[in-house]
Amino acid sequence: MKFDRVDMNALERELVSLRRDIHRYPEAGWTEFRTSALIIDELQKTGLHVRFGESIHVKDEMYGMPCSAALYECEKRAKSESSRADLIKAMHGGITGCIAAIEGGRPGPTVGIRVDIDCNEVEESKGQSHRPFREGFRSEHDNLMHACGHDAHAAIGIGAAKLIHAYKDKLKGKVIIAFQPAEEGVRGAASLTKAGHFSGCDYFFGVHIGLNMTESGSVAASSTGFLASTKMDVIFKGKSSHAGLRPEAGRNALAAAATAALNLLAIPRHSEGASRINVGTLNAGTGRNVIPEKAVMAIETRGSTDEINSYMETSAKRICRSAADMYGCEFEHRFMGKSGTTVCDAPLVEKTMEILRDVEGIKRVVRETDFGCGDDVTTIMKDVRKHGGMATEIVLGTPLSAPHHNGCFDFDEAVIGIGARVLASLAMGVSN
Ligand SMILES: [Zn+2]
Repeated sequence: MKFDRVDMNALERELVSLRRDIHRYPEAGWTEFRTSALIIDELQKTGLHVRFGESIHVKDEMYGMPCSAALYECEKRAKSESSRADLIKAMHGGITGCIAAIEGGRPGPTVGIRVDIDCNEVEESKGQSHRPFREGFRSEHDNLMHACGHDAHAAIGIGAAKLIHAYKDKLKGKVIIAFQPAEEGVRGAASLTKAGHFSGCDYFFGVHIGLNMTESGSVAASSTGFLASTKMDVIFKGKSSHAGLRPEAGRNALAAAATAALNLLAIPRHSEGASRINVGTLNAGTGRNVIPEKAVMAIETRGSTDEINSYMETSAKRICRSAADMYGCEFEHRFMGKSGTTVCDAPLVEKTMEILRDVEGIKRVVRETDFGCGDDVTTIMKDVRKHGGMATEIVLGTPLSAPHHNGCFDFDEAVIGIGARVLASLAMGVSN
């Protein structure tokens, strides 16, 4: 569809500058205070109805919430970097994200769209070849960076909302655009899903940039190969003691954790499909001459089916428990997030391909791409299907300067304008 009511060049420029603004102030899962406020402010200025704060979440389903001290610091930082402290106040305690709704002028189906808005815990490059550094929008926050393109997703969501809003008299039915917090660590979708935002959706579209799609102007109408994943913090509790005077009185939590770490990587492969395991962090001990009392590891498992991920999770817990036992330590695990695997609905994929062929800027449409990692969009997709709707996850092509989750990650910003047109075209077109 053509969006000739809107000055597309001006909109694209505006979306790129929003992306750069979001990129410069990245916020990790459940701390997207400034990012959410910026999105809400932008949408409200356009005249859109936006919901945020407590009413959009189910508190018990907000997985992997940071500790209250971290939330406090991030909220304070966000207020100092935003002109909308009033909006940030409503997100107190990590209740971030927002939902925009556009009611059409004619009766019809409900279309759901999700974009994620959180960043990664990655230190951004200061290399001259890294454009965000060279052009002055490198992350202002240590060890935080938009290295997965969620800054682009947020801008694409804003652009789509503006385009659909401009044509709402022609829209049949209703469109909901969810700006989801805490996708990294697959933590945020469960809460929004449980709150029922997607249960009434006849059609649902998720979007990601650049996953195995590196050609500008290309788009995949669906994704395969979602990996199911479980995130856990594992805590080993031992006993401190003088390392010279009474080593036998101690219980070495670091030794237990190190033993667990190596053996976690040795879980036998599963014959029925792919599996992954990672020990991402290990923090232990207090001093050179003290038997370490505590060790904490952040680990994750993945599998190409929910069953294989379950196998990895069960094996991981057994190994941690046994390693703790070897050193006379206690073991405890904290659930931090989970997502399953799913497939996109074929009839919707067909329809999506048809619509995508007519979107300005799209040069090549493919049926599917290999997603190759986990995403809690699957939680939403399963819920939509459970309630009788259809769902797909599209992938927008863009060249990348480095792999996802790398400090040199960057993409072709043309994908933002294209993405906005793609989502708006799908939302408007699917009901025809
Ligand atoms: Zn991502």
